[in-house]
Amino acid sequence: MSTAEALPADNPLATTSELPFRLPPFAEITLEHCREALLAGMADQRREVDALLACAEEPAFENTIVALERSGALLDRAWSVFGNLSSSVATPRLREIEREIAPLAAAHDDALRLDPALFARIDAVHAARETAGLDAEQARLVERYHLDFVLAGARLDGAGRARLGELNQQLSELSTTFGQNLQLATEAAAVRVADAAELDGLDEEEVAAAARAATDRGLEGYLLTLVLPTGQPVLAKLRGRELRRRVFEASVGRASAGEHDNRPVAERIARLRAERARLLGFATHADLVLADSTARTTAAVDAMLHAMVPASVANAEAEAEALREVAARDGVELAAWDWAFYSERVRAERYAVDTTALRSWFELDRVLVDGVFRAAGLLYGFRFTPRPDLAGYHPDVRVWEVADADGAEVGLYLGDFFAREGKRGGAWMSSFVRQSRLLGTRPVVVNNLNVTRAPAGRPTLLTLDEVTTLFHEFGHALHGLSSAVTYPRFAGTAVPRDFVEFPSQVNEMWALWPEVLAHYARHADTGEPLPASVVQAIDAARLWGEGFGTLEYLAATLLDQAWHRLTPETEVGDPVEFERAALAGAGVASELVPPRYRTTYFQHVFAGGYSAGYYSYIWSEVLDADTVEWFKENGGLRRENGDAFRERLLAVGGSVDPLEAFRAVRGRDADPVPLLRRRGLAPVG
Ligand SMILES: [Zn+2]
Repeated sequence: MSTAEALPADNPLATTSELPFRLPPFAEITLEHCREALLAGMADQRREVDALLACAEEPAFENTIVALERSGALLDRAWSVFGNLSSSVATPRLREIEREIAPLAAAHDDALRLDPALFARIDAVHAARETAGLDAEQARLVERYHLDFVLAGARLDGAGRARLGELNQQLSELSTTFGQNLQLATEAAAVRVADAAELDGLDEEEVAAAARAATDRGLEGYLLTLVLPTGQPVLAKLRGRELRRRVFEASVGRASAGEHDNRPVAERIARLRAERARLLGFATHADLVLADSTARTTAAVDAMLHAMVPASVANAEAEAEALREVAARDGVELAAWDWAFYSERVRAERYAVDTTALRSWFELDRVLVDGVFRAAGLLYGFRFTPRPDLAGYHPDVRVWEVADADGAEVGLYLGDFFAREGKRGGAWMSSFVRQSRLLGTRPVVVNNLNVTRAPAGRPTLLTLDEVTTLFHEFGHALHGLSSAVTYPRFAGTAVPRDFVEFPSQVNEMWALWPEVLAHYARHADTGEPLPASVVQAIDAARLWGEGFGTLEYLAATLLDQAWHRLTPETEVGDPVEFERAALAGAGVASELVPPRYRTTYFQHVFAGGYSAGYYSYIWSEVLDADTVEWFKENGGLRRENGDAFRERLLAVGGSVDPLEAFRAVRGRDADPVPLLRRRGLAPVG
């Protein structure tokens, strides 16, 4: 056997980090270290698995399943660093390594999951699980591994395995291409503006940011960069209609022609996924995905989505009527690029809320410390101490140590809030270290946002949406930080993806909770609290825009389902035409309300982990809205409520059936009515 990949001892990833909570020693780690450690880590794990297979004892939980849980420690360390860098601080060299490693990693995973001797051992442990004296978490771990291997094709014959390996390799490369095309196409689609007068409607900071964006690329004038979804925040503010049209068209046209065209990439991904599903014994890719979800069947997903379509379309149409009236006063016939602009105007006129003016009350650090952290303190007893002595992977990253109410160590929280070149769009949470009693690890989690940095000397102000996003992403961080499981496979957010958004969505409820809001929402210049009348107006305005928001989301979700209900025989033709027909067929086609993502920039489903799973957000929201009711019924922001939610739901991660964990909190199955009410789709009872 080759031992060529042994890792040089001076590679900082070679050993467990000596820093608190095993925080990676970022200052010492180079991209070449990551590359080396990824290659050596794969070889190491293969050797560890070979040793496990050479075990002369009968297959048992410890010598097979636990041995697998312990394997791949080096690979894990390398991935957790490299994967996070890839999202947050990508460089051309990183992209090059990514292209080199992606097919090797896919082949490595396949070689393990398709190893007949390994599956035979897992199958034997699985068959004897009832009589092996396993506790509930152990039994679930056996089932989990068994399902992972079956879904990965462990039951296929030699020819089937070979074809599956090819498909996975191709899909991995295509996903990487899709993501890279999108990033480059998004950068290329940034809208250039020569004259500041055209930016009428933007505030001073936004104009300065646009000027900086141009300078950063060595351009004259101003550059309006694009964010991931269809809707661009500047569209709510730009007074110049022609520039609105240009920004909108740049957004919806991204990656749909030219050098970075994702149309053929998306079509090919969907087709190969269909073939893979067939090979694994499923009718479609969606059926395969749902086998490992809380929804379980395509019928359950369809029932939920289609029940929401008619009321959502009607709500969006009612909103459009209101917008047409206001636009007509300007002599404007409402088009898609006018929606956000006039929507803001209606919001301001009807509800007296000017959401852009709200920013002055939402200063980033105050929102974080006096809002997000404080709510987590009151609910769960968490305390946050800045650790400026601990370095992140970029100077923007800040580190906090998290402790329990009694002072016990919990983990580390990293915050990386600013947009920059090389960071992907959107907001997310991920981990550097997963909690596990088996491995003696505590969680190290990170939140990424894409907030525009304020000019030097000015505080960074957030929009109300960004405030909500921060609470949301911190909800994922809480899931990771609260984890108290034995096996790393179940740590924190390692739950089915139609459940993973549930705790984060619940955490959004505290953003506007009166006693939290009163604490963090202070005017950046005067320190004045947000006036009570504004808070009431925000609440009154809550349902305005739900028609648009629900419809654009349902359209994207149904588009995702359409792409993943293909069979290998389905004639797709032009992907843009396929998209049009899919939206029309589902009753969600609208000139004025395009899907939240169109095919060519639907990163979640073509380059992220959400294929056939974008429905998960609203599936989780059913659980979320019902849990918000539970908190309210029980007195809201109280330690007792937080403790119950933490102990019964957050802490158990994936170690128990998620819907059982939900029932342990709520006392019954989820009721969909609170969600329908929240979105204005059912009368308020
Ligand atoms: Zn989320």
